Amino acid sequence: MQSTSKAGASRSLDARIQDVFEEPACEMNRGKDANVRKKGCSKPLTPGAAAGGCAFDGAKIVLQPITDVAHLIHAPLACEGNSWDNRGTASSGPMLWRTSFTTDLTELDVVMGHAERKLFKAIREIKETYAPPAIFVYSTCVTALIGDDIEAVCKRAAEKFGLPVVPINAPGFSGSKNLGNKLAGEALLDHVIGTVEPDDAGPYDINILGEFNLSGEFWLVKPLLDRLGIRVRACIPGDARYRDIASAHRARAAMMVCSTALINLARKMEELWDIPFFEGSFYGITDTSQSLRQIAELLVRKGADPEILERTEALIAEQEAIAWKKLAAYRSRLQGKRVLLNTGGVKAWSIAHALMEIGVEIVGTSTKKSTAEDKERIKEILKEDHRMFESMGSREMYDILAEHKADIMLSGGRTQYVALKAKTPWLDINQERHHPYAGYEGMVELVRQIDLAIHNPIWSEVREPAPWDAQPAMKEELQSTQSESETFPASQISSAPPPAASAGGEES
Ligand code: SF4
Repeated sequence: MQSTSKAGASRSLDARIQDVFEEPACEMNRGKDANVRKKGCSKPLTPGAAAGGCAFDGAKIVLQPITDVAHLIHAPLACEGNSWDNRGTASSGPMLWRTSFTTDLTELDVVMGHAERKLFKAIREIKETYAPPAIFVYSTCVTALIGDDIEAVCKRAAEKFGLPVVPINAPGFSGSKNLGNKLAGEALLDHVIGTVEPDDAGPYDINILGEFNLSGEFWLVKPLLDRLGIRVRACIPGDARYRDIASAHRARAAMMVCSTALINLARKMEELWDIPFFEGSFYGITDTSQSLRQIAELLVRKGADPEILERTEALIAEQEAIAWKKLAAYRSRLQGKRVLLNTGGVKAWSIAHALMEIGVEIVGTSTKKSTAEDKERIKEILKEDHRMFESMGSREMYDILAEHKADIMLSGGRTQYVALKAKTPWLDINQERHHPYAGYEGMVELVRQIDLAIHNPIWSEVREPAPWDAQPAMKEELQSTQSESETFPASQISSAPPPAASAGGEES
């Protein structure tokens, strides 16, 4: 395939990135001067630290949960290996999104200039074998650097095969995972949203943006909306279908769940199609109730019957009563327990708020990926700044846990070993988690899991002195055996803290 507008394609990526950096709805951006804003939000990476995902990875995270689409990665094999299904999102139907498609480029393809032809053939093969409603084609570092014009290939393939073939122009080198999230939103705006006119649009249609349906947790919230007669026209991206997203422009209101990922999408949908949005959370009882109220209020503002407000209050009262009754069993067991929260973004305040509702103390919460607005909310909730930390190294985290200043750490998998090394319970609350925590039922589940983790009898056992520490003779014997074989000295078998230089890392 001939490339006709390679320079044009790269210029448009630059312009797109600049546009995303200038996002006026971003609170953090509003506080910067024009020069700083142009540089964007990504900081240079610390040599040796985990990179935390490239722009392609970020785009894939946002789009892969669209379940009936074939996601085709135009790259050497490793890019797909790096990004495939790295979130525990769930589908209620199609499973095509979990099939890996890649053009698997080799040096020979690059040298011989076969990459675009290979991409076209791959699109044909997917169409003939799987007949998906759409194919998303992702550019990556290698294919962007060799100048492949995926937009032209996608356009040609869409015409030839008669289905939407959507170019996702977010090559890894263009920036951070967060930038990739936003470029994915731009791709949906450019090529998908507004392309299908629904014949059943109604006054109670909403969009949920930035909800990933991790461990199927949105299914704990959707029945509440169903009971109010509110239809989720599109949940982007969790458990989404292509057609739902294509007709999302006919929703009357939107809720944005994750503040940093898709703010550009929410703002532009408001400008283009007059869909007002608010930022809310389904973590915790108060926040779930508040989000339901705000959805109902926005719908009334857009012409829905005001009686929905009353029905919403009745549902909230009923569901809160049920949830508090279930939580009562845990209150006495968890009252006064101390939690170290090492997550980021919206969860830094929403989970903190949820836990404080049942009397748990937050000894610290990270704010690295939180927006200025998120930080304000954390301050409001915690009442003090000193429990907020921008980033915390492994050693610092270990010290807090080892000195028993916290009874449990809630974080992502990357820092779990710091907690385990400090012989402290740990619970995964990030994208790989196995339990749903959204809505009223999700809050009960979160508290149940914390209770199970804290009161697991294993902790009292592992905190007992090791047999070789309790019996010095045994330690000496062990040391002499080991120095002979020059293996692990017994002194190192005890709980040495992790090296100070090792990055605790912010969970994503
Ligand atoms: S897109 Fe680039 S940075 Fe991202 S995984 Fe592929 S090669 Fe690595």
